[in-house]
Amino acid sequence: MHSFDSRDGGGRALLGGKGAELAEMTSLGLPVPPGFTITTEACLKYYRSDQAPPDDLWDQVDEELRGLEAATGRKFGDAANPLLLSVRSGAAVSMPGMMDTILNLGINQAVADGIASRLDDEHFALDLYRRFVQMFANVVMSAPGSLFEATLEDLRRQAGVDSVAGLSMGDMRVAIERFKRIVVDTVGSNVPEEPVTQLRHAIEAVFSSWNTRRAIDYRNFHGIPHDLGTAVNVQAMVFGNMDDDSSTGVLFTRDPSTGDKTLYGEYLVNAQGEDLVAGIATPRNIERMAVENPQMHRQLVETCDALERHYRDAQDVEFTVERGKLYVLQTRAAKRSARAAVKMAVDMAEESLITENEALLRVEPGQISQLLFPRIDAEAKEQAQRDGRLLGTGLGASPGGVTGNVTFTADAAVSLESKGMAVILVRPETTADDIHGVIAAAGLLTSRGGATSHAAVVARGIGKPCVTGAESVNVFPEEGYIECGGVTVKAGDEISIDGATGEIFVGALETIQPQVSEENDMVTLLGWADGAKRLGVRANADYPRDAKVALEYGAEGIGLCRTEHMFFEPSRLALVREAVLGAYFSLRRPDDSAVAEAYRAALAKLEEFQTDDFEQIFLQMDGKPVVIRLLDPPMHEFLPGHAELAAELAETRSSGDASAIRKMEEVHAAIADMREANPMLGLRGCRLGLVYPDIYLMQVRAMMSATQRALSQGIDVGLEIMAPLVSHANELKRLREILEQSIEQFQESADTRIEYKIGAMIEAPRAALTADEIAEFAEFFSCGTNDLTQTTFAMSRDDAEAKFLLRYVEEEILPENPFQVVDRSEVGKLVRMACDLGRKARPGMTIGVCGEHGGDPSSIQLFHEIGLDYVSCSPHRVPVARLAAAQAAIRGADTAA
Ligand code: ADP
Ligand code: MG
Ligand code: MG
Repeated sequence: MHSFDSRDGGGRALLGGKGAELAEMTSLGLPVPPGFTITTEACLKYYRSDQAPPDDLWDQVDEELRGLEAATGRKFGDAANPLLLSVRSGAAVSMPGMMDTILNLGINQAVADGIASRLDDEHFALDLYRRFVQMFANVVMSAPGSLFEATLEDLRRQAGVDSVAGLSMGDMRVAIERFKRIVVDTVGSNVPEEPVTQLRHAIEAVFSSWNTRRAIDYRNFHGIPHDLGTAVNVQAMVFGNMDDDSSTGVLFTRDPSTGDKTLYGEYLVNAQGEDLVAGIATPRNIERMAVENPQMHRQLVETCDALERHYRDAQDVEFTVERGKLYVLQTRAAKRSARAAVKMAVDMAEESLITENEALLRVEPGQISQLLFPRIDAEAKEQAQRDGRLLGTGLGASPGGVTGNVTFTADAAVSLESKGMAVILVRPETTADDIHGVIAAAGLLTSRGGATSHAAVVARGIGKPCVTGAESVNVFPEEGYIECGGVTVKAGDEISIDGATGEIFVGALETIQPQVSEENDMVTLLGWADGAKRLGVRANADYPRDAKVALEYGAEGIGLCRTEHMFFEPSRLALVREAVLGAYFSLRRPDDSAVAEAYRAALAKLEEFQTDDFEQIFLQMDGKPVVIRLLDPPMHEFLPGHAELAAELAETRSSGDASAIRKMEEVHAAIADMREANPMLGLRGCRLGLVYPDIYLMQVRAMMSATQRALSQGIDVGLEIMAPLVSHANELKRLREILEQSIEQFQESADTRIEYKIGAMIEAPRAALTADEIAEFAEFFSCGTNDLTQTTFAMSRDDAEAKFLLRYVEEEILPENPFQVVDRSEVGKLVRMACDLGRKARPGMTIGVCGEHGGDPSSIQLFHEIGLDYVSCSPHRVPVARLAAAQAAIRGADTAA
């Protein structure tokens, strides 16, 4: 037993959430009606003794009641001057399924008469009595609530009044009589007259509600232990239904959707709490109170200020005003939207309510990303769902919401986009050939593929909403329509996709497009984050336009520039194909000068393109570090697929040109020869550069020329050349020799010196295990945690996600998808090893992470702990990473202190 005003603290475990707050508010001197809490311990005893109230329970309750009578100057059950109570359940965690609050307990006919004559207000007394009978019968005795509501509704209609509050006293008496009869008819007993009996029954009912089916299910679902028990709060009533200077309401101390510092909520004049929930009358905006009852409003503002000052956070408050005097009945931290979370955190720090570090911890990193993506208006979405416009759901592959016209080909997407149309490119899946369409489209939808399908990766890279793997949607590009569950959508029709949830809607939905520069509070918060974090944040950016976005979002450099993506531009595909075949044939026919010449020519043209690409990126980044990865994927990825080849060959054959046919056949055979059984583990990464050095040398020359051009424009360049998929130090040793020789030549012929670093991507376990050996030839490391996860688990991501990984997570074989959240213990161990061994061999070397984990908050926490120098993630994740890095640093300092 614990009186609200007793000094020995109880804590949430013992007093429950509500009881603990009531006691705390009382100790602060806030206006809380007096009361006491029956602890969770009593509830547990009740269960231990086979649902019999503990021996001393009623004695203790009596004792507390005497105290309450002394505090209020009223007597429980005394008709002349009655004390009425509210009985409120309250577990340590708030839980649906627990017993509803009972108000006005302690009333019966005699007490009601006493109240009527004492206050000279029979209407009020009858209102209390009616409310009590209804609540007690329903909540404690489980009489069906709908019968009471129907009774009131009948009476209201017969009387021709708008609300129950308008019923005459005669009608209220009728209601009470009918209620009592309903109880006898449905439950078989009477609502107890005796106040002490009412109280005991109510307390036992709260205890029992701990183990209702619903409460147990809820605890199972949320992993809440079953042996916590619930507390019971018994509190003196205050009456919001006394007169027009009385009211009841709920409010947030700040607007929970915008975060604005204004009271936000509603209240009902001359009413009790349950009226607000039941929607019996239309509540008024708190704003109106300022005009209609300034005195009441002033008390609210002052009390809310005091609550915020004490709890140092926005609160969700329940209150009642009795004859002009405010009482607080409940307070808790306010739930809030992403936008409000950011604004409240920044405002509260600026008001010196909290520190900047606390502000940084108040916002979930995910909330930052929610603010930046265009999104479908939540209400519009709900409405669409109600209207049956949800077409289907796939994988949310790249967040953001968008509406556009359905288009089935990349070319159509480009041409419609150039006419100013928003299009959604819908394909069974996308390939490198569709890249121009992907860039032109406002959003992507594919029926096949997982989170690393071409569409998903490209979409994430350029920050476009994308839904993949929508298997229930049948896509017929040739016929020009899609079909799902009997609904068809034709080319040109509008659909909307939500790339965060994977939902697909028919028709247009209102979307909201945020601008970073307009997000002042976010800019402020992230500025603080930069001051608090230790990890650098770079971006994975393949194109100059990505680099631009990355900078806008606060990237400190580029941690990964994937050169092959530049090869996919449609204008370059033919050239790339020529170069790849040139590499193949020149290796096999070293003496064929025609082959050599064609190869050289293709490479020279590619070099021009790459030089331009790199120059643009360097100009954007203006001296900030740029890690350029040498060509990584297996070369056949740049070559046409089997079906396309067969068609080409057939066409050539029908032309009858013998030499053309022979050439085609040769190409065909070469491509067949280049196919690999396991391309992911085949001729790729630095192995490619060792077998076909000319391609890497071309890339390095392009980097050199681009650097020189930037320098000549007065722009600094932080060039870092990265070799992918190194697994043995000798690979990097050899590669370094080849590259340095060519760089040396370039510098001599251009008569210039260019600063650069050569480093290794650590993405094979063997590289991590021998990081000290590799560090001898590497001036920096970047841990490619995507491939490192694949190689550590021996899982190909696409296959794993498509076939079994989700099931693994569901069945808790794995705690999480290791491609989203880094596998802390083992992949983490390899990263740590790479870091420690690398720095041992080469003190102070720069080590970062460039996998998708670089944008995941909990992975960032680990990378901070390991002591990496930076994380690199997609440009759109940069703000998230900045906040997550700051949180890791603040938490680290806390635990260190
Ligand atoms: P819930 O957990 O469902 O919010 P509460 O115990 O907070 O249940 O009670 C709900 C409402 O009942 C309160 O918001 C308030 O309006 C009313 N209420 C509770 N206790 C009292 C009291 N002592 N005096 C007047 N009204 C009360
Ligand atoms: Mg409440
Ligand atoms: Mg890789």
